[in-house]
Amino acid sequence: MRKNVGYLFSFLGLVFITLINPVEPEAANHQSTRYGNGFHYAFYDSSVNSTHEQYFNLARTYWNQSPKVGIGRTYSRTAYTDKYSVASGDINTLVLGEVFPGYYDTAGVAKYNIGMDDKWDFVNLVLYTNTMQYAGGSSYSLSTASHVAAHEVGHTVKQKHPPSNISLNQSVVQTGYTFNNLPVIPGGSGNVQITTYDLNSVNSKF
Ligand SMILES: [Zn+2]
Repeated sequence: MRKNVGYLFSFLGLVFITLINPVEPEAANHQSTRYGNGFHYAFYDSSVNSTHEQYFNLARTYWNQSPKVGIGRTYSRTAYTDKYSVASGDINTLVLGEVFPGYYDTAGVAKYNIGMDDKWDFVNLVLYTNTMQYAGGSSYSLSTASHVAAHEVGHTVKQKHPPSNISLNQSVVQTGYTFNNLPVIPGGSGNVQITTYDLNSVNSKF
């Protein structure tokens, strides 16, 4: 769920000092049923300024190219809408963004003690723009930030990290960003184009 750049320790006991991804706990399937299937709304909270809005807009545009997905924007948060926000992250962890799935208990109270493999009703999504700028350095741009946003929004439509033979160019949900060479959203910010891999993957989930 979390997207970052950092050191990875292999569970085989070998230590790889590498700039590929992360300490992100990965859900096994992301096959859970979200309320409203692929069609739902996103609410941008007050932390999102006019620049950040573009990241989220392009990320929605990316996934909305699937006929199975329709993520609209709403200006008033209600139950079952996702919430998008921006926060100041800890650059030492190099986490670029995270998603937090939530659900409503029988009393209607929002709870978050679940993972992406459980049934969720909505997702809170956070981008750490300061960490993105730190990791991206001179390559930080609208297109790179939008790639990170599209990665996280992908998790909200049941996308898990693809197998390692799928490249960053083939899927925005792939991990393995490197410092000063963050990937850009496919097509670039002016002509966002969902990849074949991501299109087929999201179509298969709904
Ligand atoms: Zn992720």
